[in-house]
Amino acid sequence: MSRKTIILPKGARSDKRARAGSPWIFSNEIRMDDAARSIPPGAIVNVRGESGHPFGTGYFNPASLIAVRLLDNACDAVIDADFFAGRLGRALALRERLYAQPFYRLVHAEGDGLPGLVIDRFGDTLSVQVGTAGMERQEGAILAALDRLMSPRTVIMRNDAPSRALEGLESEVRTVKGEGRRIQIEENGTRYFADLAQGQKTGWYYDQRNNRAFIAGLAKGASVLDAYSYAGGFGILAAKTGAKEVICLDSSAPALALAEESARANGVTVKAVKADVFEELERLAAQGETFDIVIADPPPFVKSKKDLESGARAYRKLARMAALVTGERGILLMASCSHNISPDRFAAECAAGIGRTGRRAGLIRQAGAGPDHPIHPHLPESAYLKALVYALD
Ligand code: SAH
Repeated sequence: MSRKTIILPKGARSDKRARAGSPWIFSNEIRMDDAARSIPPGAIVNVRGESGHPFGTGYFNPASLIAVRLLDNACDAVIDADFFAGRLGRALALRERLYAQPFYRLVHAEGDGLPGLVIDRFGDTLSVQVGTAGMERQEGAILAALDRLMSPRTVIMRNDAPSRALEGLESEVRTVKGEGRRIQIEENGTRYFADLAQGQKTGWYYDQRNNRAFIAGLAKGASVLDAYSYAGGFGILAAKTGAKEVICLDSSAPALALAEESARANGVTVKAVKADVFEELERLAAQGETFDIVIADPPPFVKSKKDLESGARAYRKLARMAALVTGERGILLMASCSHNISPDRFAAECAAGIGRTGRRAGLIRQAGAGPDHPIHPHLPESAYLKALVYALD
């Protein structure tokens, strides 16, 4: 089948954005004629301007708001195992420069020139997330390239992100190679456990690595409340670096069981509390209990643009409640992994929430995800993680 061409009308916003280097082209900005509509979801296309200007090779989905995601800035680029081996090889080389150990996000979608693909590496196990029809069609080529490049022992497809529905894709978790879904992670000199079958996202949140290290640097002798702890990413490292007491608070019993197991493996103890964070903060505040360090790293409160106002209120309330249980001269980390709330708005909500408690606060760190999560310079939404650390009076 010969390759179809998608035309960008001259002067369309996409035309300007694509010329500037944006990898996304929206459905209302292309010439959506019968020929375009008949292209099957995920097909590889050329993208050209009306006068023939080559914008590159991408994949198309007539059912998605993001109609084309560009893979290469040349037209007629061959998208096969060699193409993926090239991109994956570059992603791998960057991580090998950044980290001594093979535990990192290997591929961060557009940030690594591979839109719709996320891969986390846990030694010789890979957790792969495909988010688009275009990448789904390339699964065979991607897996062949991964085999060629790094011969992983185990490969698990974590194709259960809710956003797949927007691309007309099913939700599934499937082992394509090897067996065993339990993984060990080494990060900041600490051993953690996770479970790829039950775990959330791809199984581990590598994005907070540097923020965990920053908090751990302040933790000697401190009491620490790790709220929304998942498998103990922040809390266990804090315990290892000398915190005198660590509570891991989460609503997931399996996540807390992993945290306790990881604590044992590192020769430390954490207290696991299974509860709703807002209810527990309410209870602790009523009892006047405080901690030297409070971490609040919740699931996304703004899942889509329409949830912005209610999500923003939830972040404000969380900041207020968390500040109430942060002791005198304590440290508070507030995080948001919602790409639908901007860094400025999130910071404003945190400031308002802390302000409601009457505490004076100094912002001592503003950070995002670690460098294994490259941000595409034309996609501000790829900078989804925001972590703000406040020193309270
Ligand atoms: N801080 C973690 C990642 C947190 S992910 C890390 O560093 O790895 C968000 C966590 O919030 C998940 O573990 C989820 O189980 C938990 N969670 C979601 N809703 C919750 C609620 N209402 N109360 C407590 N925990 C909740």
